[in-house]
Amino acid sequence: MDKYFLYARKSTDEEDRQVLSIESQIDELKEFAAKEKLEIVASLCEAKTAKEPGRKIFNEMLKRIEKGEANGIIAWHPDRLARNPVDGGQVIYLTDRDKIQNLKFPTFWFENTPQGKFMLNIAFGQSKYYVDNLSENVKRGLRQKLRRGEWPSMAPLGYFNDPKSRKVLIEKREAKIVKKIFAMYLTGDWTLDALAKWCNTKAKIKSHWGHPFSASMMQNMLKNTFYVGVFTYWDETYQGSHDTFISRDLFDKARAMMRKRGRAREVKKHNFAFLGLMKCASCGCYITAESQKGHTYYRCTKKKGKCETKFLREEALVEQMRATLTSHSIRDDWADKMLAKLDTEKERNEQTTKALAQEKKDTLIVVEKKLDNLLDAKLERSISTSEYLSKKDTLVNEKVRIEEKFAQLRGEGLVWLEPMREFILLSKQAKKVAISRDLLEIKNSMKNIGSNFLLKGKTLRFEAHLGWAVAAQSASFSSWCAQEESNLQPWA
Ligand SMILES: [Zn+2]
Repeated sequence: MDKYFLYARKSTDEEDRQVLSIESQIDELKEFAAKEKLEIVASLCEAKTAKEPGRKIFNEMLKRIEKGEANGIIAWHPDRLARNPVDGGQVIYLTDRDKIQNLKFPTFWFENTPQGKFMLNIAFGQSKYYVDNLSENVKRGLRQKLRRGEWPSMAPLGYFNDPKSRKVLIEKREAKIVKKIFAMYLTGDWTLDALAKWCNTKAKIKSHWGHPFSASMMQNMLKNTFYVGVFTYWDETYQGSHDTFISRDLFDKARAMMRKRGRAREVKKHNFAFLGLMKCASCGCYITAESQKGHTYYRCTKKKGKCETKFLREEALVEQMRATLTSHSIRDDWADKMLAKLDTEKERNEQTTKALAQEKKDTLIVVEKKLDNLLDAKLERSISTSEYLSKKDTLVNEKVRIEEKFAQLRGEGLVWLEPMREFILLSKQAKKVAISRDLLEIKNSMKNIGSNFLLKGKTLRFEAHLGWAVAAQSASFSSWCAQEESNLQPWA
C-alpha cells in the first residue's frame, strides 16, 4: 500500500493571496485522503515561499521519501510543492527513480507517465500563462476525444480505462455482474436498495470511485446510456465508440420498469383519492383525509377555528359519487341517437358553410372587379387622384367587412357541436365509471360533471357544470333543441 506525506504551504506572497489557509488545506486534504483511501504517514506544513529553493520542511520531507518512509505526496496543487525549477526537478527526479510512486492533488490530475511528468513540470514552472495554455490544449485534446466517441473520464462499472490504448474497454468479470444486475432488476423482485446491498456484500466488486454502492448509484447505472453506446458529456450527447454488452431491449425494459415503479411510489404517497377536491360547507376550509384502522376518513381541516362538520368515511363518499354519476348518465340508446343527430347536424352545417363560402367568393369577385375598374380609370386619368383614393378606401373596407361577416357565420354554425358531443360522450361514460373500482377515475368523472365540491354535514354538494352551457348559449342549438324536444327524453 502507498504511503503519503500530506504537505500544505501558504506564504505571504502576493501570488498566494487566493490560496486556502494552511488549516483549510490540511482539512481538505485529509478529507480527500479519506475519500481516496490514502494512508497518511505525516502531515507537514510551512509558511514559506516556494519561489526560492531551500525550504526546510520541504527538504526534510524529500529526504524522508528518499529513505522510504513514504512513496507519495498529497498537496492541494503542484504549486504548493514547488514554484521553482530546482525543487520541481527534485520531485520529478524522485518519481523517475520510483521513490515517489504517486502524487495526489485535489485540483490537478497527475499520472506517472512521461506526459504526466511533463505536465507536472510545467505546473511547477510557476508560469500561469503556460499552465492556462496547457489546460487549453488539454481541452482541445478532450474535444477531439469526444468527437471520436471516446469517453474522457473514469470508465463506468463493466469497463476499464486501458492505459495503453487510452480507450475504455470491457472488463469481462464486471460486465457479467452488470448484466446480472440488469436482469435482477427486471425480475421486479429487487429494489435499488437491495441491489446495492447485494453488490456490497455478494457480488465481489468495488465501485470505481471507491465508495460503497448505494441505491442512487444503482439507479444511475441502470439508466446510464453508456451501456447502450451513447453518452452525455457537459450536456452534449455523443455516440460512443466503445463496445457494448447490454442490449437496447434489456436497457429499455429496465427504464420502463424504473418509470413504472416511480409512478407506483408516487400514487402510494398520495393514496387519498379525493384529497383537495372538497371544501367544508360550513367554514370554507379544505377537507383533508386521514387513514385509520384500514379506513380512509375525510374531515374539515378546521384551519379557521371551530367547525361542527363531522368526518365522512370514504366508502360513504364514494357511494354518493356513484349515485351522482349514475343519475348524470345518459342511456346508451339515447346517447347514440343524439350523437347520430349531431352528425347529421354537422353535415348540414358543412353544407351551409360550403354555400356560404361560395356566396362569399361571388361577392368578393364583384368587389375585386370594381377595384380593377377603379385602377383602370385612374390609369386612363378619367378620375382624379383624390377620387381614386376615396373610392379605393370604400372598396377595400367593403372587402374586409365581407370577409369578417363570412368568418363569423361559419364559426357560429359550429361552436356548439363539439362541446355537445363531448358532453354526451362523458354522460354516456359516467355510468360505466359509476361502477368502476378506480377512485381516481371516479374523481375525474365527477370533475367533468361539476365543480365547487362541498361537504355539507355528511352530504356531498357541488355545482353541476351546465353541460349544455356552451351549447345552450348558441341560438342555433336552442332551435335545434326546441325542434327535438317533443320526442327527446334523454335521461335514464
Ligand atoms: Zn369546516
